[in-house]
Amino acid sequence: MDVSELLDGLNDNQREAVAAPQQNMLVLAGAGSGKTRVLVHRIAWLMQVEQASPHSILAVTFTNKAAAEMKGRVEQTAGGNVFGMWLGTFHGLAHRLLRMHFQEAKLPQSFQVLDSDDQLRLVKRTIRALNLDEKKWPAKQAQWYINGKKDEGLRPKHIDAQFDPTEQTFINIYQSYQDACDRAGLVDFAELLLRAHELWLNHPVLLEHYQQRFKHILVDEFQDTNSIQYAWLTMLGQHQSKVMIVGDDDQSIYGWRGARIENIQRFLKDYPGAETIRLEQNYRSTANILKAANKLIANNNNRLGKDLWTQDAEGEKISIYTAFNELDEARFISGRITAWREENGSLDDVAILYRSNAQSRLLEEALLQAQLPYRIYGGLRFFERQEIKDALAYMRLLNNRDDDAAFERIINTPTRGIGNQTVALIRDAAKSMEVTLWQACKQMLDEQTLKGRSANTITNFINLVDQLEDDSSNLDLDQQVNFVIRHSGLKAMYQAEKGERAQARIENLNELVTACQTFEIDPEQEEELTKLTAFLTHAALEAGEQQADEYEPAVQLMTMHSAKGLEFPLVFIAGLEEGMFPSQQSQEDISRLEEERRLCYVGMTRAMQKLYLCHAESRRLYGQEKYHKASRFLRELPQECVEDIRLQSQVSRPATTGRFSTTFTTETFENSGFSLGQRVLHQKFGEGVVLNYEGAGAQSRIQVNFEQVGIKWLVVSYANLTAL
Ligand code: ATP
Ligand code: MG
Repeated sequence: MDVSELLDGLNDNQREAVAAPQQNMLVLAGAGSGKTRVLVHRIAWLMQVEQASPHSILAVTFTNKAAAEMKGRVEQTAGGNVFGMWLGTFHGLAHRLLRMHFQEAKLPQSFQVLDSDDQLRLVKRTIRALNLDEKKWPAKQAQWYINGKKDEGLRPKHIDAQFDPTEQTFINIYQSYQDACDRAGLVDFAELLLRAHELWLNHPVLLEHYQQRFKHILVDEFQDTNSIQYAWLTMLGQHQSKVMIVGDDDQSIYGWRGARIENIQRFLKDYPGAETIRLEQNYRSTANILKAANKLIANNNNRLGKDLWTQDAEGEKISIYTAFNELDEARFISGRITAWREENGSLDDVAILYRSNAQSRLLEEALLQAQLPYRIYGGLRFFERQEIKDALAYMRLLNNRDDDAAFERIINTPTRGIGNQTVALIRDAAKSMEVTLWQACKQMLDEQTLKGRSANTITNFINLVDQLEDDSSNLDLDQQVNFVIRHSGLKAMYQAEKGERAQARIENLNELVTACQTFEIDPEQEEELTKLTAFLTHAALEAGEQQADEYEPAVQLMTMHSAKGLEFPLVFIAGLEEGMFPSQQSQEDISRLEEERRLCYVGMTRAMQKLYLCHAESRRLYGQEKYHKASRFLRELPQECVEDIRLQSQVSRPATTGRFSTTFTTETFENSGFSLGQRVLHQKFGEGVVLNYEGAGAQSRIQVNFEQVGIKWLVVSYANLTAL
């Protein structure tokens, strides 16, 4: 691309930023205003016009996906020559630095990066080695503590426990854990950043080298940097380099993980004279979508304040779909996507966004049923998640003691003191006796090859599994799974963990119970299979296949957190209900509520052409049908930008429950004066909930589920129902 082309696709403000003299700059602008585009063009400009060598450029993004995308865009814009440029996430760049200077960083050359699960395991071992009670000192909480401190740049010696014995214990765990990592040459994610920071601190010569080298530092999504990242950047860039940061305070959504929105203001203090450039034209979304998003975010306080406008046409209104229940919501979404495809829309252009990963299960099922390929980003598909696999492994073992894979998975989950050595012994025995692991255990116990503590722990495990089966085999499938999740200790294990991820795991386990509740065995198989076996087969199949091939167009499913920076022509946001989004935990804490609102802003502004916002009037949660109010975020949208499409078209009710077999249309229904899900009173049958409606005029009939007498069809004109 030549120089004029570099500036061609830019507006005046964008040009000002791209072609600015070498200086520190803050580009502060709302969603879709071209911040990332400006950053990419600036890099190309620096190389082509300022003759900057790629070697002198460091560019930081927030996710690997964003980094890969930016690399592609820079290569394209700058004509391929990016050799020597450092472009990546903070973690990726820190890792690179530590590899190059492992000696100065006091690491062995072969140091390994610990992922989060490995880290947890090591923390657990540390707690045990310190002879601490794991119930009182849950590993997950200790991990959270350690990472939090590292994100603030603190080593144990920097932390003042102020005679707080609880904190003192956490400090001890932190110290021992760190010693173990150092001995083994292991580096966790937070440690990458902290070490890289310390590398600068302890080696001024090295720091100076990089200060001189990286004359240009550019950071995207700056609003989500945490303290240690900020400190690292500042050390590197404050003297000789020119720093360009790009961000949007309204899109700060990682406060719960230590991100500091204040870093934007701090930057202006630390870099006096930095120029602030605002971009106000949005190029992504239609006017309706943009206006609604602007109005929504205006409800937050303490914003830096921005006006966003677009030349784009008004576009279609945002559709708000009020689903009868969660199945209806999922079916509605898949229905609309099918229609999109039929009109030659590409599935790659469609995204379904949600607040928490547990929501994906129903959506996945609806997509599978509609034969729409999909891909899940930043998370595993429902039946592949760790906690779900754990729970299902118990069910599999209950179903079949010889299921070795299930056995191995749960023999020591939750931990019950069965060490790797004992498991290895059992494995060997099973192999030489040519029996399954379960059988090997039994034989070894009979023959007393297992002794002492191992014999006890294995006996306990075998009894536990037998007992679980005895106590639960008469229960309905959902009750049985619920029982097993609780009495196996799985639930307690996850409850003891802290943080959003643990919360998500509990939600997923509850969702599994709901899945069992609504699962219906194919009548043709009813004779041959138990419901449990049928369900396990269903789960295994769903886990194994159907993930769209890499190059096949596919609907993208992800949380709103993972959608940051991305854009799609057609976007659905599911589950806009009080207690889901905004989440229950944020209801009483204004700053958390505002972070939820920012998240909603991020979600909505991913949409280019068409946005659907969905919520369900009733949702099965934790095995119970709950009625949720629509999210306050929906009420905060301007009326003129939205349309209510409740039951506008013919909606066929999900067949899975067997209840919703007929169809109905809005007009007939509205004329009746009743609505789906509404509670009504009948003189003889008592109270009930409206399930369905059909026909028109004098013949119209209504279906009600009465608490006392069950489901009945009634002719509206005779039934004399009172709305409650
Ligand atoms: P976010 O805050 O969501 O990260 P952003 O500010 O980084 O958004 P970009 O992703 O850079 O915005 O741009 C949004 C869309 O607008 C992209 O498709 C981009 O190509 C397009 N765009 C940006 N500037 C212009 C322009 N001047 N002319 C035409 N299209 C533009
Ligand atoms: Mg961006």
